Amino acid sequence: MAWFEKPPAPPARMATDAIWAVCAGCKAYIARAEWNAALRVCPRCNYHDRLTCRERIDLLTDAGSFEELNAQVTFGDPLRFVDANGPYAAKAKATAAKTGIGEAVVTGKARIDGMDAVLAVMDFRFLGGSLGSGTGDRILLAAEAALAAQRPYIVVSASGGARMHEGIVSLMQMARTCAAIAKLQEAGIPYISILTDPTTGGVSASYAMVGDINIAEPKALIGFAGRRVIEQTIKQKLPDDFQTAEYVLEHGFIDHIVDRKSMKAFLANVLRYAGQ
Ligand SMILES: [Zn+2]
Repeated sequence: MAWFEKPPAPPARMATDAIWAVCAGCKAYIARAEWNAALRVCPRCNYHDRLTCRERIDLLTDAGSFEELNAQVTFGDPLRFVDANGPYAAKAKATAAKTGIGEAVVTGKARIDGMDAVLAVMDFRFLGGSLGSGTGDRILLAAEAALAAQRPYIVVSASGGARMHEGIVSLMQMARTCAAIAKLQEAGIPYISILTDPTTGGVSASYAMVGDINIAEPKALIGFAGRRVIEQTIKQKLPDDFQTAEYVLEHGFIDHIVDRKSMKAFLANVLRYAGQ
C-alpha cells in the first residue's frame, strides 16, 4: 500500500548549505566556495558574516602561534538559574560540548606578523557571546597575562550583552574587565578592541569601547539597547543605519572600520606604531 507511505525525507539542509551560502545582509545566494574564499564576506553588499573564535584566531595570528590560556576557566551558575527551557547549567554544558569551547571567549598568546600579543576572541555561538562570570574571568586573566608579559592586548568582541542567567554577577564583569584593562593602560601597554557583528549591551558598554584604538568590521551592529527599545522610549523613528559600524564611526565612538581581509595587516601596523 505504497500510496499512504510517508514521502521520502527532503534532502538534508546540510546538502544545500554545502553549495550555497545565504547572505544575512542582502539575502543573496552566494556559491559556498566563493563565500569561503572571500572569508565569508558578501561580494555584493560587503556584509561580514560571523566567524567562530577559531576561524578568527586563524585569520589574525601567525600560523601555529596561538597558545590558549585558561581553557579550564568556565561558566559559573551562582543563582542556580532555571528558565522555561530548563537549567542554565545544562544549557551551558551542552553548548560547551557542541562548540568545543568552555566559555563565550577564548584567550591566549599569539604572534601577529612576528610580534607577540595576548588575544581574547569572543564567539557568538556560546549563548549569544554573552558576558558571564567565566567570560569575565578569562578576559581579566588574559589582561593580567598581557601585563605580566608586557605585551599588547587585543580583544575581539561578538556579544549580545550581559548573561542574564547570572544576574548581578554578570553585570559585575563590566567593571572587573575594565579595571584589568585600566591597569594595562596605566602601564602603557596597548589595548586594542575589535568590534564585530554584533557588539551590544554590557560588552559595548565596557571593554569593547575602551580600547586605545577601537576598530570595527564593516556593517557590524554596535549599540547598547536594541533599536525597538530605544524607539519606544524616545517615541521617535531612528535612521536606517542606526547602530551600524558606519553610523557609530561617524558619531565618534570608534576610530576605524577595517575590512576582514585587511584586519591582520592593520593590526600589525598598529602594533608596529605602538613600538612592538
Ligand atoms: Zn550580501
